[in-house]
Amino acid sequence: MKRIYLDWNATAPMRAEALAHMLERLAATGNPSSVHAEGRAARNLVETARQEVATLVNAPETAVIFTSGGTEAISTALNPRWREKGETKGLSQALIGATEHAAVLAGGRCDPKLRAYLPVDRDGRLDLQALDAALAAASGPALVAVQLANNETGVLQPIPEIARRVHEREGILICDAVQAAGKVPINITALGADALVLSSHKIGGPQGVGALVLRDEAIAPSDPLIRGGGQERGHRAGTEAVAAIAAFGMAASLARIELHETAAHLARLRDRIESDLLARLPEAVFFGQAVERLPNTSLIGLGGASAATLLMALDLSGFAVSSGSACSSGKVKRSHVLDAMGIERRLAESAIRVSLGRTTTENETIRFVEAFETAAKCLYKKATAA
Ligand code: PLP
Repeated sequence: MKRIYLDWNATAPMRAEALAHMLERLAATGNPSSVHAEGRAARNLVETARQEVATLVNAPETAVIFTSGGTEAISTALNPRWREKGETKGLSQALIGATEHAAVLAGGRCDPKLRAYLPVDRDGRLDLQALDAALAAASGPALVAVQLANNETGVLQPIPEIARRVHEREGILICDAVQAAGKVPINITALGADALVLSSHKIGGPQGVGALVLRDEAIAPSDPLIRGGGQERGHRAGTEAVAAIAAFGMAASLARIELHETAAHLARLRDRIESDLLARLPEAVFFGQAVERLPNTSLIGLGGASAATLLMALDLSGFAVSSGSACSSGKVKRSHVLDAMGIERRLAESAIRVSLGRTTTENETIRFVEAFETAAKCLYKKATAA
């Protein structure tokens, strides 16, 4: 039986064009820092990819710093010292959204004593009054980290409003756009964030490569996380992963070209899943449904069912989905996102995330709804018989 992959927020299948580009490059040689023809060819690939990634988020190409992934880009940016127009800027506090990805929650290089977490409302949107209060209470400009889209619920944050508040207090705003890229249009200037984080494997490129994109190259984290050679204009040392970067660039370019068509396709399928499930299981809830969300994500709650058991039942029937929170080392634990949203424990523990992608078909979503209903009813029967 052909498996049905509905876990695109965990990682997206690699695009065929990106894979072909990567394989071709892997067979070639040349260090982008070398001046000979082989080196120049490698440099050319890296710079083409830089332009493609920059264009995806409407940034100047000189503002893209390639990293080993979203996590490294976040760790680079979460730094209490930034440089602004040649001057070092000390940031007195790190204010982090409570529903951020674990890589952001971990706080990077910011002192744990100087970190504070910003609450969200029941829909998962940042509490702007709490942000205002935290900015006002900080002893100086703060470093603020708020994601564009949540990986579990898909809920979008009002980044332009957040940026305005942060900049009024001369702070720095880092925005994790890992999940939003390729699913909603992104314009770094319109968002107003000082830095965006991107990850290749969420948009159909390879795993192990990502980028920190600056709004203005004159405003950047002050000390490189990885020191050594002067690659990435001194922001990130180490020979560039040329093949992976080239494939990331190709995936970014295709994601941009197909964005509007893909988003409409995803929203139609996602909405159909939710309405069909609700018709069959009226107690089902879809977290974040009342606010702006990514078009591909549905986080489904079914009070009384256990996400771990549902996940296994669906896996055995051929469906790859995920429980609310990413399962680290195979363990399913309750979602910190739903906890922050104040969702009752029983409901939170049932949450299953379905995330679709550009090749998902209507037939796959219909089969998923049938399998979900069967699994849920079977578990429910077992629970009431016990
Ligand atoms: N931020 C978000 C919202 C994510 O979903 C992920 C990956 O799951 C990351 C950051 C980390 O990215 P990477 O896997 O490239 O380190």
